[in-house]
Amino acid sequence: MDQPKIPHATAKRLPLYYRFIKNLSLSGKQRVSSAELSEAVKVDSATIRRDFSYFGALGKKGYGYNVNYLLSFFSQTLDQEDITRVALIGVGNLGTAFLHYNFTKNNNTKIEIAFDVDENKVGKQIGEIPVYHLDHLETELPDNVKVAILTVPAGVAQSVADRLAKTGIEGILNFTPARIDVPAHIRIHHIDLAVELQTLVYFLKNYPK
Ligand code: ATP
Repeated sequence: MDQPKIPHATAKRLPLYYRFIKNLSLSGKQRVSSAELSEAVKVDSATIRRDFSYFGALGKKGYGYNVNYLLSFFSQTLDQEDITRVALIGVGNLGTAFLHYNFTKNNNTKIEIAFDVDENKVGKQIGEIPVYHLDHLETELPDNVKVAILTVPAGVAQSVADRLAKTGIEGILNFTPARIDVPAHIRIHHIDLAVELQTLVYFLKNYPK
């Protein structure tokens, strides 16, 4: 299947669509309307129709979308046949929670290896994932691990990212509040839970439903 160029905003919604469509397929449903999808994933149906038009899924009036077509499109586009292997750096409270969290339940992402500098954590297995000392990052990081989750203290986030940049890592999910610079060949996404929570509270106060 050709991989069409999809706008970023659309690409970000693909995992959401994929999860719902997979469940529909498992329950034996053959087709779905944009209104049903809209209700389930909380994205307005005009956006869904536009998103789907990018990957050639043209819903028919009164019929909707073919679930199996969508499923095969999503699983190819999102590389669901392949497991995405992930490293986690910083086995603190948040990092430990991620090591215990079963990402493969909802998508084919798996944390395979963790790093820390705390001698009490190094050498242990947490959620069946081995923890190595950061000193051994370059030697222990498997070649097929291209994504890293960063859950270190903010103060060391940049220096850890600098080291990651010298490995085969291509993407970093940064959970620290630090804003990090990375070389152009690396994609970095920031998730600051405190900011997200504050934003929600701000909206609750200023834009009550
Ligand atoms: P904890 O209570 O276990 O310390 P925390 O999330 O409050 O958890 P943080 O101070 O945010 O702790 O540190 C997160 C983790 O990052 C800790 O396990 C710490 O040992 C580890 N860490 C600190 N510096 C580095 C570093 N340079 N490289 C890798 N890991 C580091």
